Amino acid sequence: MSPVAQRTEIDGVAVDELQKSFRGELVRPDDAGYDVHRRVWNGSIDRRPALIARCTGVADVRAAIRFARSQNLRVAVRGGGHSFPGLSVCDDGMLIDLGPMKGIRVDPEARTARVQAGVLLGELDRETQEFGLAVPSGVVTHTGVAGLTLGGGIGWVMRKYGLTIDQLLSVDVVTADGELVKASENENADLFWGVRGGGGNFGIVTDFEFRLVSVGPYVMAGPVFWPMEDAPEVLRFYRDWIADCPDELMTIAVQRRAPALPIVPPELVGKLVFAVTACYAGPVEEGERVLRPLKEFGSPVLDFCRPKPFLEHQSTFDPSFPHGWHYYVRSCDVAALSDEVIDIVAEHGSHITSPVTSIALWQMGGAVGRIDDGATAFNGRQAGFTFNINGNSKTADGFDAERQWARDYWSALAPHHTSVYVNFLMEEGEERVRDAYGAAKYDRLKALKRKYDPTNFFSLNQNIKPD
Ligand SMILES: Cc1cc2nc3c(=O)[nH]c(=O)nc-3n(C[C@H](O)[C@H](O)[C@H](O)COP(=O)(O)OP(=O)(O)OC[C@H]3O[C@@H](n4cnc5c(N)ncnc54)[C@H](O)[C@@H]3O)c2cc1C
Repeated sequence: MSPVAQRTEIDGVAVDELQKSFRGELVRPDDAGYDVHRRVWNGSIDRRPALIARCTGVADVRAAIRFARSQNLRVAVRGGGHSFPGLSVCDDGMLIDLGPMKGIRVDPEARTARVQAGVLLGELDRETQEFGLAVPSGVVTHTGVAGLTLGGGIGWVMRKYGLTIDQLLSVDVVTADGELVKASENENADLFWGVRGGGGNFGIVTDFEFRLVSVGPYVMAGPVFWPMEDAPEVLRFYRDWIADCPDELMTIAVQRRAPALPIVPPELVGKLVFAVTACYAGPVEEGERVLRPLKEFGSPVLDFCRPKPFLEHQSTFDPSFPHGWHYYVRSCDVAALSDEVIDIVAEHGSHITSPVTSIALWQMGGAVGRIDDGATAFNGRQAGFTFNINGNSKTADGFDAERQWARDYWSALAPHHTSVYVNFLMEEGEERVRDAYGAAKYDRLKALKRKYDPTNFFSLNQNIKPD
Protein backbone atom coordinates (compact mmCIF):
# COMPACT_ATOMS: atom_id res chain seq x y z
CA MET A 1 0.00 0.00 0.00
CA SER A 2 1.40 3.37 -0.91
CA PRO A 3 0.73 6.57 1.02
CA VAL A 4 -1.91 8.93 -0.30
CA ALA A 5 -0.49 10.69 -3.36
CA GLN A 6 0.78 14.14 -2.56
CA ARG A 7 -0.85 17.10 -4.31
CA THR A 8 0.77 20.49 -4.33
CA GLU A 9 -2.14 22.58 -5.57
CA ILE A 10 -5.24 22.89 -3.48
CA ASP A 11 -8.68 23.44 -4.95
CA GLY A 12 -9.76 26.89 -3.72
CA VAL A 13 -13.43 26.28 -4.46
CA ALA A 14 -13.34 23.08 -2.40
CA VAL A 15 -11.71 24.97 0.52
CA ASP A 16 -14.44 27.62 0.35
CA GLU A 17 -17.00 24.84 0.48
CA LEU A 18 -15.28 23.23 3.48
CA GLN A 19 -15.23 26.58 5.31
CA LYS A 20 -19.05 26.70 5.27
CA SER A 21 -19.31 23.93 7.85
CA PHE A 22 -15.88 24.17 9.48
CA ARG A 23 -16.03 25.78 12.94
CA GLY A 24 -12.29 26.46 13.24
CA GLU A 25 -10.01 28.51 11.05
CA LEU A 26 -8.78 27.42 7.62
CA VAL A 27 -5.46 29.12 6.95
CA ARG A 28 -3.94 29.38 3.46
CA PRO A 29 -0.43 30.59 2.50
CA ASP A 30 -1.62 34.14 1.80
CA ASP A 31 -3.60 34.47 5.04
CA ALA A 32 -2.43 36.46 8.04
CA GLY A 33 -1.32 34.00 10.67
CA TYR A 34 -0.04 31.44 8.17
CA ASP A 35 3.57 31.81 9.32
CA VAL A 36 2.57 31.61 12.96
CA HIS A 37 0.52 28.44 12.53
CA ARG A 38 2.92 26.55 10.26
CA ARG A 39 5.84 26.96 12.70
CA VAL A 40 6.72 24.12 15.01
CA TRP A 41 8.89 24.14 18.12
CA ASN A 42 12.06 23.06 16.30
CA GLY A 43 13.29 26.16 14.43
CA SER A 44 15.35 24.05 12.01
CA ILE A 45 12.09 22.83 10.45
CA ASP A 46 10.64 25.19 7.82
CA ARG A 47 7.76 23.61 5.93
CA ARG A 48 4.85 25.15 4.03
CA PRO A 49 1.57 23.26 4.01
CA ALA A 50 -0.99 24.18 1.34
CA LEU A 51 -3.73 24.40 3.96
CA ILE A 52 -3.86 24.51 7.75
CA ALA A 53 -7.09 23.26 9.30
CA ARG A 54 -7.26 24.55 12.87
CA CYS A 55 -9.78 22.19 14.41
CA THR A 56 -12.06 23.09 17.30
CA GLY A 57 -13.58 19.64 17.86
CA VAL A 58 -14.33 16.17 16.55
CA ALA A 59 -16.59 17.48 13.77
CA ASP A 60 -13.76 19.63 12.38
CA VAL A 61 -11.30 16.73 12.62
CA ARG A 62 -13.68 14.46 10.70
CA ALA A 63 -14.34 17.15 8.10
CA ALA A 64 -10.59 17.74 7.67
CA ILE A 65 -9.93 14.03 7.15
CA ARG A 66 -12.77 13.73 4.63
CA PHE A 67 -11.45 16.78 2.78
CA ALA A 68 -7.86 15.52 2.66
CA ARG A 69 -9.07 12.18 1.35
CA SER A 70 -11.26 13.73 -1.33
CA GLN A 71 -8.38 15.97 -2.48
CA ASN A 72 -5.67 13.27 -2.19
CA LEU A 73 -3.69 15.49 0.17
CA ARG A 74 -0.85 14.38 2.33
CA VAL A 75 -1.69 14.98 5.98
CA ALA A 76 0.36 16.09 8.98
CA VAL A 77 -1.24 16.09 12.43
CA ARG A 78 -0.19 18.52 15.10
CA GLY A 79 -0.82 18.40 18.85
CA GLY A 80 1.76 20.49 20.71
CA GLY A 81 4.18 20.71 17.76
CA HIS A 82 7.16 19.29 19.71
CA SER A 83 8.11 16.40 17.46
CA PHE A 84 11.94 16.61 17.45
CA PRO A 85 12.11 15.91 13.67
CA GLY A 86 9.12 18.16 12.93
CA LEU A 87 6.75 15.40 11.84
CA SER A 88 3.75 17.57 12.71
CA VAL A 89 4.08 19.82 9.68
CA CYS A 90 4.43 19.05 5.97
CA ASP A 91 5.36 20.77 2.75
CA ASP A 92 2.24 21.08 0.60
CA GLY A 93 -0.66 18.90 1.71
CA MET A 94 -2.78 19.64 4.76
CA LEU A 95 -1.82 20.33 8.34
CA ILE A 96 -4.53 19.22 10.76
CA ASP A 97 -3.79 21.45 13.74
CA LEU A 98 -5.43 20.35 16.99
CA GLY A 99 -4.00 23.36 18.88
CA PRO A 100 -7.37 25.06 19.48
CA MET A 101 -8.76 21.95 21.24
CA LYS A 102 -7.94 23.07 24.78
CA GLY A 103 -10.67 21.47 26.88
CA ILE A 104 -9.65 20.04 30.28
CA ARG A 105 -12.13 18.65 32.77
CA VAL A 106 -10.78 17.48 36.12
CA ASP A 107 -12.98 15.39 38.42
CA PRO A 108 -11.23 15.54 41.80
CA GLU A 109 -13.72 13.08 43.37
CA ALA A 110 -13.31 10.40 40.73
CA ARG A 111 -9.64 11.41 40.30
CA THR A 112 -9.90 11.50 36.53
CA ALA A 113 -9.29 14.11 33.85
CA ARG A 114 -10.58 14.44 30.30
CA VAL A 115 -8.12 16.26 28.10
CA GLN A 116 -8.45 17.42 24.50
CA ALA A 117 -5.69 16.98 21.94
CA GLY A 118 -4.38 20.57 21.88
CA VAL A 119 -3.56 20.78 25.57
CA LEU A 120 0.05 21.37 26.68
CA LEU A 121 1.59 19.76 29.77
CA GLY A 122 1.71 23.01 31.77
CA GLU A 123 -1.94 23.71 31.05
CA LEU A 124 -2.91 20.28 32.34
CA ASP A 125 -0.71 20.56 35.44
CA ARG A 126 -2.29 23.94 36.24
CA GLU A 127 -5.74 22.33 36.41
CA THR A 128 -4.78 19.12 38.22
CA GLN A 129 -2.38 20.65 40.77
CA GLU A 130 -5.23 22.83 42.00
CA PHE A 131 -6.36 19.60 43.72
CA GLY A 132 -2.89 18.19 44.52
CA LEU A 133 -3.30 15.79 41.60
CA ALA A 134 -1.39 15.15 38.37
CA VAL A 135 -1.16 13.09 35.22
CA PRO A 136 2.41 11.72 35.16
CA SER A 137 3.88 13.49 32.13
CA GLY A 138 7.06 15.14 30.87
CA VAL A 139 9.57 17.74 32.00
CA VAL A 140 8.99 20.75 29.70
CA THR A 141 5.68 22.52 30.15
CA HIS A 142 5.08 23.56 26.53
CA THR A 143 5.20 19.96 25.20
CA GLY A 144 1.89 18.58 23.87
CA VAL A 145 -0.04 16.05 25.94
CA ALA A 146 -1.11 14.27 22.73
CA GLY A 147 2.20 13.35 21.11
CA LEU A 148 3.89 12.70 24.45
CA THR A 149 1.14 10.32 25.58
CA LEU A 150 0.94 8.46 22.28
CA GLY A 151 4.65 7.63 22.50
CA GLY A 152 4.57 6.60 26.18
CA GLY A 153 5.39 9.63 28.32
CA ILE A 154 8.36 9.74 30.71
CA GLY A 155 8.79 12.33 33.44
CA TRP A 156 9.43 13.28 37.04
CA VAL A 157 6.92 10.97 38.74
CA MET A 158 7.14 7.92 36.46
CA ARG A 159 9.23 5.83 38.86
CA LYS A 160 6.38 6.07 41.38
CA TYR A 161 3.34 6.08 39.08
CA GLY A 162 4.52 4.70 35.73
CA LEU A 163 4.43 6.27 32.29
CA THR A 164 1.74 8.68 31.10
CA ILE A 165 0.09 5.78 29.25
CA ASP A 166 -0.03 3.76 32.46
CA GLN A 167 -2.65 6.22 33.75
CA LEU A 168 -4.58 6.39 30.48
CA LEU A 169 -8.14 5.07 30.81
CA SER A 170 -9.54 5.65 27.35
CA VAL A 171 -9.18 7.64 24.13
CA ASP A 172 -11.54 8.90 21.43
CA VAL A 173 -9.99 8.33 18.02
CA VAL A 174 -11.01 9.49 14.55
CA THR A 175 -9.69 6.82 12.22
CA ALA A 176 -8.44 7.18 8.65
CA ASP A 177 -11.94 6.58 7.27
CA GLY A 178 -13.34 9.38 9.45
CA GLU A 179 -15.07 7.11 11.98
CA LEU A 180 -15.07 8.12 15.66
CA VAL A 181 -14.21 5.16 17.89
CA LYS A 182 -13.53 4.84 21.58
CA ALA A 183 -10.68 2.65 22.79
CA SER A 184 -10.12 1.37 26.32
CA GLU A 185 -9.34 -1.93 28.04
CA ASN A 186 -12.96 -2.97 27.33
CA GLU A 187 -13.62 -1.46 23.92
CA ASN A 188 -11.40 -1.84 20.87
CA ALA A 189 -8.74 -3.18 23.22
CA ASP A 190 -6.35 -3.86 20.32
CA LEU A 191 -6.42 -0.18 19.34
CA PHE A 192 -6.01 0.85 22.99
CA TRP A 193 -2.89 -1.34 23.19
CA GLY A 194 -1.54 0.29 20.01
CA VAL A 195 -2.11 3.94 20.92
CA ARG A 196 -0.20 3.40 24.16
CA GLY A 197 3.21 3.76 22.48
CA GLY A 198 2.37 3.41 18.79
CA GLY A 199 2.12 7.18 18.20
CA GLY A 200 -0.27 8.72 15.70
CA ASN A 201 -0.22 5.73 13.37
CA PHE A 202 -3.82 4.60 13.88
CA GLY A 203 -5.84 7.80 13.83
CA ILE A 204 -6.27 11.21 15.38
CA VAL A 205 -6.87 11.04 19.11
CA THR A 206 -9.24 13.86 19.95
CA ASP A 207 -9.74 13.15 23.69
CA PHE A 208 -7.74 11.45 26.40
CA GLU A 209 -9.18 10.22 29.70
CA PHE A 210 -6.60 9.86 32.48
CA ARG A 211 -6.56 8.55 36.04
CA LEU A 212 -5.01 11.16 38.35
CA VAL A 213 -2.34 10.52 40.97
CA SER A 214 -1.41 12.49 44.10
CA VAL A 215 1.64 14.76 43.73
CA GLY A 216 2.80 17.73 45.79
CA PRO A 217 1.67 20.42 45.73
CA TYR A 218 5.16 20.83 47.33
CA VAL A 219 8.05 18.56 46.43
CA MET A 220 11.74 18.45 47.27
CA ALA A 221 13.31 19.03 43.87
CA GLY A 222 15.88 20.77 41.69
CA PRO A 223 19.44 20.52 40.37
CA VAL A 224 22.80 20.21 42.14
CA PHE A 225 25.81 21.24 40.00
CA TRP A 226 29.48 20.22 39.99
CA PRO A 227 32.30 21.19 37.60
CA MET A 228 32.30 18.92 34.53
CA GLU A 229 35.70 17.49 35.48
CA ASP A 230 34.07 15.96 38.58
CA ALA A 231 31.54 14.07 36.41
CA PRO A 232 33.25 10.61 36.66
CA GLU A 233 33.39 10.58 40.45
CA VAL A 234 29.93 12.12 40.86
CA LEU A 235 28.52 9.52 38.43
CA ARG A 236 30.15 6.64 40.32
CA PHE A 237 28.71 7.92 43.58
CA TYR A 238 25.34 8.54 41.88
CA ARG A 239 25.24 5.00 40.44
CA ASP A 240 25.61 3.49 43.91
CA TRP A 241 23.33 6.02 45.60
CA ILE A 242 20.36 5.37 43.29
CA ALA A 243 20.88 1.59 43.24
CA ASP A 244 18.34 1.03 46.02
CA CYS A 245 16.58 4.40 46.15
CA PRO A 246 12.81 4.61 46.69
CA ASP A 247 10.42 4.88 43.72
CA GLU A 248 9.56 8.41 44.85
CA LEU A 249 12.99 9.56 43.70
CA MET A 250 13.52 10.36 40.04
CA THR A 251 16.69 11.97 38.70
CA ILE A 252 18.03 13.32 35.43
CA ALA A 253 21.77 13.93 35.07
CA VAL A 254 22.66 16.86 32.82
CA GLN A 255 25.81 17.96 31.02
CA ARG A 256 25.99 21.45 29.54
CA ARG A 257 27.53 24.88 29.85
CA ALA A 258 26.01 26.79 32.78
CA PRO A 259 23.22 28.97 31.34
CA ALA A 260 22.99 32.73 31.73
CA LEU A 261 20.03 32.70 34.11
CA PRO A 262 19.48 35.12 37.02
CA ILE A 263 20.03 32.26 39.50
CA VAL A 264 23.47 31.37 38.06
CA PRO A 265 26.40 33.46 39.41
CA PRO A 266 28.09 35.38 36.55
CA GLU A 267 31.46 33.70 37.14
CA LEU A 268 29.87 30.28 36.46
CA VAL A 269 27.98 31.22 33.29
CA GLY A 270 29.42 29.41 30.26
CA LYS A 271 31.50 26.95 32.33
CA LEU A 272 31.07 23.23 31.66
CA VAL A 273 28.97 21.71 34.43
CA PHE A 274 27.54 18.35 35.42
CA ALA A 275 24.24 18.38 37.30
CA VAL A 276 21.92 15.88 38.90
CA THR A 277 18.36 17.20 38.90
CA ALA A 278 16.02 15.40 41.26
CA CYS A 279 12.36 15.26 42.15
CA TYR A 280 11.07 13.44 45.22
CA ALA A 281 7.39 12.60 44.69
CA GLY A 282 6.61 12.09 48.38
CA PRO A 283 6.64 14.04 51.65
CA VAL A 284 9.11 16.94 51.53
CA GLU A 285 10.87 15.94 54.79
CA GLU A 286 11.44 12.43 53.47
CA GLY A 287 12.79 13.95 50.24
CA GLU A 288 15.20 16.12 52.22
CA ARG A 289 16.54 13.03 53.99
CA VAL A 290 16.85 10.94 50.82
CA LEU A 291 18.56 13.75 48.89
CA ARG A 292 21.03 14.79 51.60
CA PRO A 293 23.84 12.43 50.43
CA LEU A 294 23.64 13.85 46.90
CA LYS A 295 23.75 17.43 48.11
CA GLU A 296 26.72 16.65 50.38
CA PHE A 297 28.79 14.74 47.83
CA GLY A 298 32.05 16.37 46.73
CA SER A 299 32.09 20.11 46.20
CA PRO A 300 28.95 21.29 44.40
CA VAL A 301 29.25 24.71 42.77
CA LEU A 302 25.48 25.36 42.93
CA ASP A 303 22.56 23.74 44.70
CA PHE A 304 18.95 24.56 43.78
CA CYS A 305 17.51 21.38 45.22
CA ARG A 306 14.96 22.55 47.77
CA PRO A 307 11.26 22.37 48.68
CA LYS A 308 9.15 24.05 45.98
CA PRO A 309 5.75 23.78 44.31
CA PHE A 310 5.62 20.87 41.88
CA LEU A 311 4.31 23.34 39.28
CA GLU A 312 7.48 25.39 39.64
CA HIS A 313 9.70 22.32 39.33
CA GLN A 314 7.87 21.24 36.18
CA SER A 315 9.17 24.34 34.39
CA THR A 316 12.83 23.91 35.48
CA PHE A 317 13.99 22.93 31.98
CA ASP A 318 11.72 25.35 30.05
CA PRO A 319 14.37 28.09 29.59
CA SER A 320 16.73 25.55 27.99
CA PHE A 321 14.29 24.57 25.21
CA PRO A 322 12.46 27.66 23.93
CA HIS A 323 10.59 27.63 20.61
CA GLY A 324 12.56 28.47 17.50
CA TRP A 325 16.14 27.34 18.25
CA HIS A 326 17.68 24.66 16.06
CA TYR A 327 17.39 21.28 17.74
CA TYR A 328 18.83 17.87 16.94
CA VAL A 329 18.62 14.85 19.21
CA ARG A 330 20.14 11.39 19.32
CA SER A 331 18.85 8.95 21.87
CA CYS A 332 19.43 5.46 23.21
CA ASP A 333 18.73 3.39 26.27
CA VAL A 334 21.50 1.66 28.20
CA ALA A 335 21.15 -1.08 30.80
CA ALA A 336 23.54 0.34 33.38
CA LEU A 337 26.09 3.03 34.15
CA SER A 338 29.10 0.80 33.70
CA ASP A 339 32.58 2.28 34.07
CA GLU A 340 32.85 2.29 30.25
CA VAL A 341 29.61 4.28 29.90
CA ILE A 342 30.80 6.74 32.55
CA ASP A 343 34.09 7.21 30.66
CA ILE A 344 32.17 8.00 27.45
CA VAL A 345 29.94 10.48 29.28
CA ALA A 346 32.97 12.22 30.80
CA GLU A 347 34.85 12.34 27.49
CA HIS A 348 32.05 13.64 25.24
CA GLY A 349 30.55 15.99 27.82
CA SER A 350 33.87 17.79 28.04
CA HIS A 351 33.64 18.64 24.30
CA ILE A 352 30.40 20.64 24.51
CA THR A 353 30.91 24.00 22.82
CA SER A 354 27.44 25.50 22.20
CA PRO A 355 25.89 27.30 25.20
CA VAL A 356 22.56 25.60 24.34
CA THR A 357 23.75 22.03 23.75
CA SER A 358 23.15 19.53 26.53
CA ILE A 359 22.57 15.92 27.43
CA ALA A 360 19.91 14.54 29.73
CA LEU A 361 20.52 11.10 31.20
CA TRP A 362 17.23 9.79 32.56
CA GLN A 363 17.02 7.36 35.46
CA MET A 364 14.40 4.78 34.48
CA GLY A 365 13.04 1.85 36.51
CA GLY A 366 10.68 1.84 39.47
CA ALA A 367 7.00 1.47 38.56
CA VAL A 368 7.78 1.77 34.82
CA GLY A 369 9.64 -1.54 34.89
CA ARG A 370 7.11 -3.39 37.05
CA ILE A 371 4.20 -3.02 34.64
CA ASP A 372 3.71 -5.98 32.32
CA ASP A 373 5.81 -5.34 29.24
CA GLY A 374 3.15 -6.85 26.98
CA ALA A 375 0.39 -4.57 28.28
CA THR A 376 1.19 -1.66 25.94
CA ALA A 377 2.97 -1.03 22.64
CA PHE A 378 5.63 1.01 24.47
CA ASN A 379 8.90 -0.86 24.58
CA GLY A 380 11.87 -0.33 26.88
CA ARG A 381 10.34 -0.78 30.33
CA GLN A 382 13.49 -2.59 31.38
CA ALA A 383 15.81 0.22 30.30
CA GLY A 384 18.19 1.28 33.04
CA PHE A 385 18.83 4.77 31.67
CA THR A 386 17.76 6.82 28.66
CA PHE A 387 20.18 9.17 26.95
CA ASN A 388 18.84 12.30 25.28
CA ILE A 389 21.80 13.91 23.52
CA ASN A 390 20.81 17.37 22.29
CA GLY A 391 23.09 19.07 19.74
CA ASN A 392 21.50 22.51 19.57
CA SER A 393 22.24 26.02 18.32
CA LYS A 394 20.22 29.21 18.49
CA THR A 395 20.29 29.70 14.70
CA ALA A 396 21.49 27.70 11.67
CA ASP A 397 24.99 29.00 12.45
CA GLY A 398 27.04 26.21 13.96
CA PHE A 399 24.17 23.70 13.83
CA ASP A 400 26.10 21.19 11.71
CA ALA A 401 28.89 21.00 14.26
CA GLU A 402 26.43 20.45 17.12
CA ARG A 403 24.67 17.69 15.18
CA GLN A 404 28.00 16.00 14.56
CA TRP A 405 28.88 16.22 18.25
CA ALA A 406 25.55 14.51 19.13
CA ARG A 407 26.12 11.77 16.55
CA ASP A 408 29.66 11.15 17.83
CA TYR A 409 28.49 10.90 21.45
CA TRP A 410 25.70 8.51 20.44
CA SER A 411 28.03 6.39 18.28
CA ALA A 412 30.52 6.06 21.13
CA LEU A 413 27.68 4.61 23.23
CA ALA A 414 26.70 2.14 20.46
CA PRO A 415 28.19 -0.95 22.16
CA HIS A 416 25.91 -0.23 25.13
CA HIS A 417 22.66 0.60 23.29
CA THR A 418 19.68 -1.49 24.25
CA SER A 419 16.41 0.06 23.01
CA VAL A 420 15.35 3.61 22.13
CA TYR A 421 12.33 5.69 23.17
CA VAL A 422 10.20 6.34 20.07
CA ASN A 423 9.46 9.95 21.09
CA PHE A 424 13.20 10.73 21.11
CA LEU A 425 13.82 9.55 17.52
CA MET A 426 14.64 11.87 14.64
CA GLU A 427 13.77 10.68 11.12
CA GLU A 428 16.07 7.69 11.33
CA GLY A 429 14.40 5.14 9.04
CA GLU A 430 12.28 2.05 9.44
CA GLU A 431 14.95 -0.06 11.15
CA ARG A 432 15.19 2.42 14.02
CA VAL A 433 11.40 2.47 14.44
CA ARG A 434 11.59 -1.30 14.59
CA ASP A 435 14.40 -1.01 17.19
CA ALA A 436 12.14 1.21 19.27
CA TYR A 437 9.40 -1.42 19.44
CA GLY A 438 11.34 -4.67 19.21
CA ALA A 439 10.50 -7.26 16.54
CA ALA A 440 7.44 -8.85 18.18
CA LYS A 441 5.67 -5.59 19.03
CA TYR A 442 6.57 -4.12 15.66
CA ASP A 443 4.86 -7.03 13.87
CA ARG A 444 1.79 -6.64 16.07
CA LEU A 445 1.72 -2.90 15.35
CA LYS A 446 1.94 -3.58 11.62
CA ALA A 447 -1.09 -5.88 11.83
CA LEU A 448 -2.95 -3.15 13.72
CA LYS A 449 -1.95 -0.59 11.09
CA ARG A 450 -3.36 -2.88 8.38
CA LYS A 451 -6.63 -2.99 10.29
CA TYR A 452 -7.02 0.72 11.15
CA ASP A 453 -5.03 2.53 8.43
CA PRO A 454 -4.38 0.16 5.52
CA THR A 455 -3.50 2.97 3.06
CA ASN A 456 -1.07 4.64 5.48
CA PHE A 457 -3.11 7.84 5.43
CA PHE A 458 -1.33 8.80 8.69
CA SER A 459 2.25 8.49 7.48
CA LEU A 460 3.93 11.56 9.00
CA ASN A 461 4.92 10.02 12.30
CA GLN A 462 7.39 7.36 13.42
CA ASN A 463 5.75 5.39 10.70
CA ILE A 464 4.67 1.78 10.97
CA LYS A 465 4.06 0.75 7.38
CA PRO A 466 1.05 -1.49 6.84
CA ASP A 467 2.76 -3.78 4.30
C1 LIG B 1 11.38 20.37 24.62
C2 LIG B 1 10.90 18.94 24.63
C3 LIG B 1 10.80 18.26 25.82
C4 LIG B 1 10.36 16.94 25.85
N1 LIG B 1 10.25 16.31 27.04
C5 LIG B 1 9.74 15.07 27.08
C6 LIG B 1 9.51 14.43 28.33
O1 LIG B 1 9.78 14.97 29.38
N2 LIG B 1 8.97 13.19 28.30
C7 LIG B 1 8.64 12.56 27.15
O2 LIG B 1 8.13 11.45 27.21
N3 LIG B 1 8.86 13.14 25.96
C8 LIG B 1 9.39 14.37 25.90
N4 LIG B 1 9.60 14.96 24.70
C9 LIG B 1 9.29 14.24 23.47
C10 LIG B 1 7.82 14.40 23.17
O3 LIG B 1 7.09 13.46 23.91
C11 LIG B 1 7.53 14.21 21.69
O4 LIG B 1 8.25 15.15 20.95
C12 LIG B 1 6.04 14.32 21.41
O5 LIG B 1 5.79 13.79 20.15
C13 LIG B 1 5.55 15.74 21.50
O6 LIG B 1 4.16 15.80 21.39
P1 LIG B 1 3.46 17.05 20.72
O7 LIG B 1 2.00 16.82 20.73
O8 LIG B 1 3.98 18.29 21.32
O9 LIG B 1 4.09 16.95 19.29
P2 LIG B 1 3.56 17.05 17.78
O10 LIG B 1 4.77 17.49 17.04
O11 LIG B 1 2.33 17.85 17.65
O12 LIG B 1 3.24 15.57 17.45
C14 LIG B 1 4.19 14.55 17.51
C15 LIG B 1 3.71 13.34 16.70
O13 LIG B 1 2.48 12.88 17.23
C16 LIG B 1 1.43 12.99 16.27
N5 LIG B 1 0.25 13.52 16.95
C17 LIG B 1 0.18 14.64 17.70
N6 LIG B 1 -1.05 14.76 18.23
C18 LIG B 1 -1.76 13.71 17.79
C19 LIG B 1 -3.10 13.28 18.00
N7 LIG B 1 -3.93 13.94 18.78
N8 LIG B 1 -3.51 12.14 17.41
C20 LIG B 1 -2.68 11.43 16.62
N9 LIG B 1 -1.39 11.80 16.39
C21 LIG B 1 -0.95 12.92 16.97
C22 LIG B 1 1.96 13.94 15.24
O14 LIG B 1 1.40 13.73 13.98
C23 LIG B 1 3.44 13.67 15.25
O15 LIG B 1 3.75 12.56 14.45
C24 LIG B 1 10.03 16.28 24.64
C25 LIG B 1 10.14 16.96 23.43
C26 LIG B 1 10.58 18.26 23.42
C27 LIG B 1 10.72 18.97 22.12
